[in-house]
Amino acid sequence: MVAVDLGGTRMKCGLVAADGAVLHRETRPTPREAGGRAVLEALLETVVELGQKAAADGHRVRAVGVVVPGIIDAATGTVGAENLAWAGTPVLAELKAAIGHDQHVILAHDVRAGGYAELRQGALTGTTNSLFLPLGTGIAAAMVVDGSLVSGDGYAGELGHTRFVNGEAAELCACGQWGCLETVASAAALARRYGVRTGRVVDGSREVLELLAEGDPDAEAVWKEAMAALIDALVLYTTLVAPTRIAIGGGLVGAGETLLAPLREGVTARLTFQRNPEIVAAVLGEEAGCLGAALMAWDSVTAEESGEQPV
Ligand SMILES: [Zn+2]
Repeated sequence: MVAVDLGGTRMKCGLVAADGAVLHRETRPTPREAGGRAVLEALLETVVELGQKAAADGHRVRAVGVVVPGIIDAATGTVGAENLAWAGTPVLAELKAAIGHDQHVILAHDVRAGGYAELRQGALTGTTNSLFLPLGTGIAAAMVVDGSLVSGDGYAGELGHTRFVNGEAAELCACGQWGCLETVASAAALARRYGVRTGRVVDGSREVLELLAEGDPDAEAVWKEAMAALIDALVLYTTLVAPTRIAIGGGLVGAGETLLAPLREGVTARLTFQRNPEIVAAVLGEEAGCLGAALMAWDSVTAEESGEQPV
């Protein structure tokens, strides 16, 4: 499988065997500043070249999996992704035109692909009702409900864009709404809010976490606000969908128990009749998206060959 993840600052690319073993990995620049067309051209070139490399190494490419940080319209194969400057971009059609219409191509949402990998080979293995929640530049959820990853035709899982901050504390979110979870609890929000509060520019959430460990009161204040909103979100999710395990991923999970322990305590304290989920760290890190896309693509080919509906 050829797998490409457009979710990060650079494209993460790989060749992945049927058992999930990564045979080759590389990163390439994503030319965002040159516009959406340039990003698409770079993706097409990457997929073609990785296919050539696979052939040269003696492998047969069975499918291509592409992970995008945006909304994939399942019916049309078009993608809307603000940070790739894509709006209704016909990514599936362009990929098929570049590599052949008989090729198997899977487009996957970055977080859902990561959740799929965690479900198959990571922190959610063995669960039928669970949640993968990466806290990175943004926040979105991969929801496993009764054994299936919920896609909602490409629109599901946007927990980061649900209002958990009210009153004057609510900030305008990039999505156009006020008080979204993402505006206080993403790794990016933590760094930005610390900067606004103190007038000090920090080097991402990592520095805020270091300040938190040193007992910096402003770091504690933005951290507490993030925790409160996250606990509200996890309690809502637990009440609605009853997960047995929640795996937190993304940059913030680098905080380890500093993050996980208060989330466990906060959620446990709020639940009454609901079943209490385990709250753990995701284990696959940055590779989850790429691996998930490859596993999805592989499963889709396997299902088709066995006459089942692809998932
Ligand atoms: Zn929002």
